[in-house]
Amino acid sequence: IPVEPFDLVVFGGTGDLARRKILPGLYRRFLGGQMPPESRIIGAARSEMTEDEFRAMARAAIAEFVSADKRDAAMIDQFISLISYVAIDAKGDGGWATLKGMMRKGVVRAFYFSVAPALFGALAERLHDHNIADAKSRIVVEKPFGRDLDTARALNATLAKHFREEQIYRIDHYLGKETVQNLMAVRFANILFEPIWKAQYIDHVQITVAETVGVEGRGAYYDTSGAMRDMVQNHLMQLLCLIAMEPPYHFDPNAVRDEKLKVIRALDPVEHQDIVRGQYLAGGGQKSYVDHSENPASKTESYIAMKVHVSNWRWKGTPFYLRTGKRLRARTSEIAITFKEPPHSIFDDAEGWRENVLVIRLQPNEGMNLMVMIKEPGPGGMRLTQVPLDMSFAEALGEDGADIPDAYERLIMDVIRGNQTLFMRGDEVEAAWAWADPIIQAWERKGDKPRGYEPGTSGPEDALMLLHRDGRRWREIR
Ligand code: NAD
Repeated sequence: IPVEPFDLVVFGGTGDLARRKILPGLYRRFLGGQMPPESRIIGAARSEMTEDEFRAMARAAIAEFVSADKRDAAMIDQFISLISYVAIDAKGDGGWATLKGMMRKGVVRAFYFSVAPALFGALAERLHDHNIADAKSRIVVEKPFGRDLDTARALNATLAKHFREEQIYRIDHYLGKETVQNLMAVRFANILFEPIWKAQYIDHVQITVAETVGVEGRGAYYDTSGAMRDMVQNHLMQLLCLIAMEPPYHFDPNAVRDEKLKVIRALDPVEHQDIVRGQYLAGGGQKSYVDHSENPASKTESYIAMKVHVSNWRWKGTPFYLRTGKRLRARTSEIAITFKEPPHSIFDDAEGWRENVLVIRLQPNEGMNLMVMIKEPGPGGMRLTQVPLDMSFAEALGEDGADIPDAYERLIMDVIRGNQTLFMRGDEVEAAWAWADPIIQAWERKGDKPRGYEPGTSGPEDALMLLHRDGRRWREIR
């Protein structure tokens, strides 16, 4: 279903994110018939560039980041014809009048802030001062949203001066992933899961976001951030919320976000012994973290594992184990929900028995599997074996899931539709910082140094202990 025609201004239109995700994503939505040809995309960045030069850049981005089977020459030409460019310095006064002149009446206006966070406030201010944004305009704000509670509050306050909360779309691209939304469908559109979705039946939850890359190229920035700020406070927290939240009364932006907020507020402070921080060492011909960050004394973590408790009726006693890191064995993101043992076993084959696990895979191969016990086929007597019940959509959408829209393209379409369900509300972001801040401050105060870990592994040894101690094991990263 096509969205309404729109004017989308991409600030930072020449940047990495615009080239890799935003422009290719918009092209795919155009190809899919969702972006009406009456729409326009206006690149805006500091560089002096002609419209033709920007269009050539967009064309090159499509060639590089859209798969060959989706590159239709005629469609690309049409799409490119919808693109224009204006040189604007977010902090200067040039270019704004030109941009204003380009805006049309009667279409949705959206402004994507794909620039450094230090410029978010300036952009909001100028859009407002130059009368470019109208009451229906939307702004899309990239991550990171602040680096602690104070900065997040200040940014919220600046944006609130010029835009209403209903106009502000804070991106967390994890929420745009097909499986993440499918998780909500599985939970709330089936009677099967919800009755057992609680501490009584769920032993524990593991959320893993493992990357193989290091901080190459962005080491200086990352060194001021670290895994807790860069991944846990936002992405892992959002995933945790979707698993732990109560059923919203309706699939409505504020109803969903109210429930997520309650989860964040129910989080216990995390004990020092329940956190393991790591930093990757050199190996496999690659530099170490401190070399990448060019800070030999760096205490920033490129890995973190932690045990988190949601203190409410539903979850009391069920730990959530979170971990994320760089330069690990494989690029894997998944949520695994491990259920408890049946109360009594009637089978002799205790060895064959395994817990039921619901695995929600975000990458690679987005999909869901429910691990269930069945009888091992054949005449060998009543022997138990575990098989995956495949609840993914790979079959419907092609083996590699190639047709699953990328998170960014889906989220941009939601912006145009005016649907904020998959975007973080200001109070959610602040609550997540209010939880993360004391944790970060404690190790800054203590001068905690992360443990070194070998690249290509699953992280520091101590992280294994976090679960061993509780008689549990991490799932393998593969
Ligand atoms: P980038 O450095 O590649 O691009 C920055 C863009 O901002 C360029 O187009 C540049 O011309 C423009 N710019 C810089 N100063 C400007 C100014 N004063 N006025 C107007 N434009 C200016 O950055 P990026 O990687 O594309 O990231 C953009 C935003 O997206 C950042 O907030 C980043 O944290 C976020 N983000 C990026 C990625 C990614 O994969 N690149 C992923 C998640 C979030």
